[in-house]
Amino acid sequence: MSRELADLLFPNITKKPEDYEKMYPPRSLADGAVVTRFAPSPTGFLHFGGLFAAFAEKMAAKSTGGVFYLRIEDTDKKREIENGVSIIAGGLRAFGIEADEGMMSETEEKGAYGPYIQSKRTEIYQSYVKTLVEQGLAYPCFMTEEELGEVREKQEADKLLPGVYGEFAKYRDMAFDEAKKRIENGDEYVVRLKSPGQTDKRIKFKDVIKGEIEMPENILDVVLLKKDGTPTYHFAHVVDDHLMRTTHVIRGDEWISSVPIHLQLFWLCGMKPPKYAHISPIMKEENGGKRKLSKRKDPEAAVSYYEEAGYPSGAVWEYLMTLANSNYEDWRLANQNEPIDSFKFMLSKMSKAGSLFDIVKLGDVSKNYISKLTADEVYSMVSEWAERFNGKLFELLKNNPEYAKKIFSIERGNAKPRKDIAKWSDVQDYVSYFYDDIWNRERDFADNLSDGDMIEILKEYKNIYSAEIAEEDWFPQVRDLSERLGYAKAPKLYKKEPDLYKGHVGDVSGVIRAAVTGRRNTPDLYSIMNVLGYDKVIKRIDESITILKEGK
Ligand code: GLU
Repeated sequence: MSRELADLLFPNITKKPEDYEKMYPPRSLADGAVVTRFAPSPTGFLHFGGLFAAFAEKMAAKSTGGVFYLRIEDTDKKREIENGVSIIAGGLRAFGIEADEGMMSETEEKGAYGPYIQSKRTEIYQSYVKTLVEQGLAYPCFMTEEELGEVREKQEADKLLPGVYGEFAKYRDMAFDEAKKRIENGDEYVVRLKSPGQTDKRIKFKDVIKGEIEMPENILDVVLLKKDGTPTYHFAHVVDDHLMRTTHVIRGDEWISSVPIHLQLFWLCGMKPPKYAHISPIMKEENGGKRKLSKRKDPEAAVSYYEEAGYPSGAVWEYLMTLANSNYEDWRLANQNEPIDSFKFMLSKMSKAGSLFDIVKLGDVSKNYISKLTADEVYSMVSEWAERFNGKLFELLKNNPEYAKKIFSIERGNAKPRKDIAKWSDVQDYVSYFYDDIWNRERDFADNLSDGDMIEILKEYKNIYSAEIAEEDWFPQVRDLSERLGYAKAPKLYKKEPDLYKGHVGDVSGVIRAAVTGRRNTPDLYSIMNVLGYDKVIKRIDESITILKEGK
């Protein structure tokens, strides 16, 4: 009878699960190699939590010589948007989380286990469901929305487990002839699992992150195929993860409660289940409490936020690793110049409770990362970013690469490089005074000296500053000038006897700094003046004298 029902439901499905088993043989990988996947729906939004999961998946594969692939789960056509695949694939790529196989764009895929997009796999799912029907483990269910609603209400009122099972599974044991009549009549139906689960039985499994978990066995006749013949997530992921030879399903912990369904499906289909590793959501601190990073409330929940802000992918990796394995930070401190790949990533060390997202920390990690890049690297990464997000800056950089590289060389490549830049969108402000086109010319002079004193300092300095001055002579020259004009040549001396002086050498260099750059704080002033060149420095000093004279 079951065979007839199977043929009635799937007259066109001729391939059998065995055929697919042969088409997608086990992978020949070394022992211990982990095969993982990132399996999002193409909804047009890549969440930071998704990036984090993809990172963990990639690292788990990479650290064991395995495979990380991208599978698109587009069974819910209502939520899908145009270019949804490219947004995901591109978002991952932008942060260096390139998939080894799977979907590469809307139309391209790579690898021998495809198609990697579920909408192209309908026949495969149906073949497995057909076999389950043959074995009496699945059946067509004709319940209407209305009937399902009634069941739900009754279950709510009686405080019963919601869903289709036991007495509520109205079509579980329908006679074949009856089913045939309804199908021939064109009645709509879904295909449900005929769950062999029992209410009093429990299952145990070991989650790689969360540890030993025990739960009641699944008793629900869950939907396997929807009315249009496409699969539900539950069923599709089981078939896909098996045929794509996934060893570890790493995913968000909102799926933990479905594991009993999933394990039952693997067993009933005669497949060995993969290992499960459920990731806790990324949390954010708010008003002393913690909550999930939210797509609605937090702009930083979208991965596009990091691309637009210009956090380099290497820095994001560093940060993701600190979130993923809490022992990473100590390792990084002890191994400052090692590539990140030397760190041994462990899936089992991921947080059970949920890592805390901290944008300030991301900024610090990124500053540290950027401070170790060469000027050439900074130049090319900023240019690449600016080409997409800041046309003006892009032009300036492109017009004179040598000049830009000189700017980025300042206090870089030494033992203690400066950490001024956290992201490429900081660069315009950081370099602005090097470019007359974008500099606002405002001078932020300190207010502890009179305008007259400042004018005097600048006039005198103009007379002694020369284009040829060597680095080691620059500061002594400012010190001599300070002494000559009545300022202490060291802050210490001034502090001891402030009445003897107008100020100290720091005040004097501060006036020069503000005159030349507009700012009170900058990297090494000598280097800045060198990059700007003699003429520009003199021009800016003259300009500043005028500004001060006008009393602005
Ligand atoms: N498509 C599911 C989601 O978007 C994937 C869950 C999984 O990784 O298995 O959440």
